Amino acid sequence: MSFSELGLSPELLRAIGEQGYNEPTPIQAKAIPLVLTGRDMLAAAQTGTGKTAAFMLPILERLKKYANPSASPAMHPVRALILSPTRELADQIGVNVKAYTRYLPLRATTIFGGVNMDPQVAELRRGVEILIATPGRLLDHVSQKTVQLNRVDVLVLDEGDRMLDMGFIQDIRKIMALLPRERQTLLFSATFASEIKKLAEDFMRDPQVVEV
Ligand code: AMP
Repeated sequence: MSFSELGLSPELLRAIGEQGYNEPTPIQAKAIPLVLTGRDMLAAAQTGTGKTAAFMLPILERLKKYANPSASPAMHPVRALILSPTRELADQIGVNVKAYTRYLPLRATTIFGGVNMDPQVAELRRGVEILIATPGRLLDHVSQKTVQLNRVDVLVLDEGDRMLDMGFIQDIRKIMALLPRERQTLLFSATFASEIKKLAEDFMRDPQVVEV
């Protein structure tokens, strides 16, 4: 099995080749073709399995149609929102996205709490297709109207069980209410506890379950 057989474009294949990825990990081999179809997915995968690329690569493939070097912020609404429980995880996803988008004119930024909002506001004002965020800080930006979520095509909830353990359920529900109903939703969780199943029932449409 190779990445090119999974339906990824040359721009992405080149970028991941430069990262030293030779072949897909098991979660990538299962998730990439499924996410490319646009369906919702509930996936059980731990950190270290290559799960970030498992959702990010097919999302970037799907967003490729929006790649646009235009400088006008209005031409770069948020199309993919990735919610992460901690600053460290969000940051790590952001670093990966930067590497994967090296040959694609798609913009990404990462926002989390505990730091000044102003540089984040400046980044958001320039327009980004891919936004990686912790829930609380995202809602701070929403209430300050420095971000809009009404054009989101794909939502990723990463480490869903940790987000629930950390008490983010109300924030997640508030964020969900701001997203278009017509969207793709991907939920990653180490376990499928009953609260995770409830989240999937409430916010996903006929999700495909992937376990490795
Ligand atoms: P993750 O589980 O997403 O935190 O990824 C764990 C590590 O594996 C990261 O350093 C990735 O850059 C790396 N990685 C992801 N996919 C592959 C792959 N197919 N081949 C080699 N390394 C990979």
